[in-house]
Amino acid sequence: MKQKLFVYNTLSRKKEEFIPLNAPHVGMYVCGPTVYSDAHLGNCRTYISFDLIFRYLTLLGYKVRYVRNITDAGHLEGDADEGEDKIAKKAKLAQVEPMEIVQKYTVGFRDVMRILNTLPPSIEPTATGHIIEQIELTKEILARGYAYEVNGSVYFDVEKYNKTQDYGALNGRHLEDLLNNTRNLGGQDEKRGKLDFALWIKAKPEHLMKWPSPWGVGFPGWHLECSAMSNKYLGHQFDIHGGGIDLVPTHHTNEIAQNVAACGKNPATYWMHTNMLTVNGTKMSKSLGNSFLPEELFSGENDILNKPYSPMTVRFFMLQTHYRSTLDFSNDAMEASEKGFKRLMNAYDLLPGLKTSAQSDVDIESISNNCYAAMNDDFNSPVLIAELFECSRIINSVHDGKAKIDEQNLEALKKLMQTFLVDVLGLKSEAAANDELPNVLDFIINLRSEAKKSQDYATSDKIRIGLQQIGFQLKDSKEGTTWTKI
Ligand code: AMP
Ligand code: ZN
Repeated sequence: MKQKLFVYNTLSRKKEEFIPLNAPHVGMYVCGPTVYSDAHLGNCRTYISFDLIFRYLTLLGYKVRYVRNITDAGHLEGDADEGEDKIAKKAKLAQVEPMEIVQKYTVGFRDVMRILNTLPPSIEPTATGHIIEQIELTKEILARGYAYEVNGSVYFDVEKYNKTQDYGALNGRHLEDLLNNTRNLGGQDEKRGKLDFALWIKAKPEHLMKWPSPWGVGFPGWHLECSAMSNKYLGHQFDIHGGGIDLVPTHHTNEIAQNVAACGKNPATYWMHTNMLTVNGTKMSKSLGNSFLPEELFSGENDILNKPYSPMTVRFFMLQTHYRSTLDFSNDAMEASEKGFKRLMNAYDLLPGLKTSAQSDVDIESISNNCYAAMNDDFNSPVLIAELFECSRIINSVHDGKAKIDEQNLEALKKLMQTFLVDVLGLKSEAAANDELPNVLDFIINLRSEAKKSQDYATSDKIRIGLQQIGFQLKDSKEGTTWTKI
């Protein structure tokens, strides 16, 4: 490894040298989606960011075990034990099994991740597949005196924990401060303290997803699954724990408390958080009603959009901003990204045809060093992209006969573009992206069939007409739907 890698640690609030516990092995846990609806563009931003991190660590020679869970039970509508289970609520509305909801949105999530060219994680464990581990962890926390049982539910005792530990450390807040700023939330009559949270929740008779436990029939609290699954697959201590920055105050703070209470250790050395994708400055979120789906971008089917954008343009748009900065969505920004992406890819496509000279006007080694330096500085993809634009300027100059490049520098340039543009940024040329077109269309056609099945003919027509407008004719028959280019 040429230079040291520095990553920003939310816990210490500074950049720290990356020193894995067990190099060359690296353990990385990223909180995955709650599969009760389609992943919106904001969710995709977080997973594209961790894909970049996964890809770069792999390039550096680390053997990364990347665990990204699927939340398929226990995530209530509110972050703090309030409301219904999100998946069960959707299942009741649609009059289907909760697992049908889980299956539908897990498949959809994987499709979108593949279309956006994110690499699959090494393990994708589910909350419902790890109920036993969650029960065991709850028993451990109870045995160590950091939790208490009331009427079939088990709660974590935050004030007791804070006597020896710093509960608000990740968020940089003192307990008194948190206590003063917390409303009374779900299960309050049973909880000893305002900040206490549920490890296990007693199920009401009508609750759909429930399991037997030493405390009666119930289900795990949302924060518990990540502690149990990271423990199981990465051990009591591993290197990176990540997610969106919105997970810091509650989900990750509680996860740390659970792990420390059960195992005496903060599970991760580096806590990494991506900033939010915003629309007009407001976080994109399903509950705020300002979210839209990646497939709407691919088809252009959303009133906010002037036109459709290819998956690789969407990926490039995300990577042009550093993962710790907010990224505001706008048509102008998307159009600029489309142009920038095309400029880079056109240059990349010219590479194989470039002619070499005896002398060279360019020095690729210094650019290559800059690329590593950018990524070693907390995965600074916008600075990396600026270096790649410099490469595209060189490629165009050589192509136009305005600059000379020798054999050695051309080989270095080809290697650099392959390494950083393709392997690290995960961008594919338009031609290669076009190979994905049938997959993208099949994906959109499936969404339309689902809309039709649930008698949402307005959406089904919108998709058909939208595809027609951008040059694709759908034909419905008994065998299903086919498309042709018009
Ligand atoms: P959820 O399915 O709501 O649990 O979210 C899945 C992941 O997406 C979490 O890591 C969130 O922090 C992240 N996330 C949610 N909204 C946004 C957003 N607007 N921008 C970036 N990441 C987000
Ligand atoms: Zn989590």
